[in-house]
Amino acid sequence: MKLNLLCVLVFVLSLVGCGTKKQILQSASIIKPVDILGRLDTFVPAVNLTLDSPIVILKPSVDTLPLDQRFSERILTPEEKVQEQKRTGIHKGADWTSAIHYDLRKPNFVIIHHTSQNSITQTIRTFQVEHSKVSAHYVIGRDGRVVQMLNDYERAWHAGRSKWGQITDMNSMSIGIELDNNGREPFPDPQINSLLLLLDTLKTKYTIPHTNFIGHADIAPTRKDDPNVFFPWKLLAERGFGVWYDESFLIQPPFNFNPVDALKIIGYDVSNEEAAIRAFKRKFIIKEVNGILTAYDRTVLYNIYKRYY
Ligand SMILES: [Zn+2]
Repeated sequence: MKLNLLCVLVFVLSLVGCGTKKQILQSASIIKPVDILGRLDTFVPAVNLTLDSPIVILKPSVDTLPLDQRFSERILTPEEKVQEQKRTGIHKGADWTSAIHYDLRKPNFVIIHHTSQNSITQTIRTFQVEHSKVSAHYVIGRDGRVVQMLNDYERAWHAGRSKWGQITDMNSMSIGIELDNNGREPFPDPQINSLLLLLDTLKTKYTIPHTNFIGHADIAPTRKDDPNVFFPWKLLAERGFGVWYDESFLIQPPFNFNPVDALKIIGYDVSNEEAAIRAFKRKFIIKEVNGILTAYDRTVLYNIYKRYY
């Protein structure tokens, strides 16, 4: 008898629950936070709700209590930081109704670095200590070993203060790849071979345009010089990652060619022209890396600009 009563109760409760969910799912109009709270608080289990956070009514995906109230005495873990971001990503001044078609944002650039360190172990340790505040998605050793340290969809902290075209938050747009290298040495073949394989996977998986494979020095010319002058940008371009020019067939630029405009169109931040030119020469001219464009440098710049942009 008791069992029958329990079954009936469960059945009735399930009907109430389904009906309420259906009512919300079918609603095409914006839901006022107070409406949702008023309608559902009779059966929703104990969840810390506030009028600011109606998102959690049916399936709480974030804890609505501000983290500073829960973790006021200690440093947040990375997971807690992400949780806090999800909470603050909800605009308090707007009503909430959940869309059902979405996924995570995907990368559209690859930024290549050298580590300026002496071993892959040292780099991994750097990315795991609290005070460093830097990270990358991948680290590739001199022997070609590839270590992934963040999911491709997560935002690594590798670009720092940087700009490319009109993009001022490269970390949000990109995957960061660190090559184990002390900053003054060539990159061994096994390391480059592993890099090429990884780039091929990333390019296909996320449909990244070939022009969007660039170096840290490209996006931060006043602060960075990586990857160093030994990095084989020409080989990469031949495989479809980044840009290069045909040394055997260079077209002369017209008399009114403006090199600074061309650098800007390619993506360089020209607010410091000398730094932008130096970054361009380190990558494409390789020798005599300075802030002055020779006639030959202008010709190379024109050919890259004309070929890709
Ligand atoms: Zn870097």
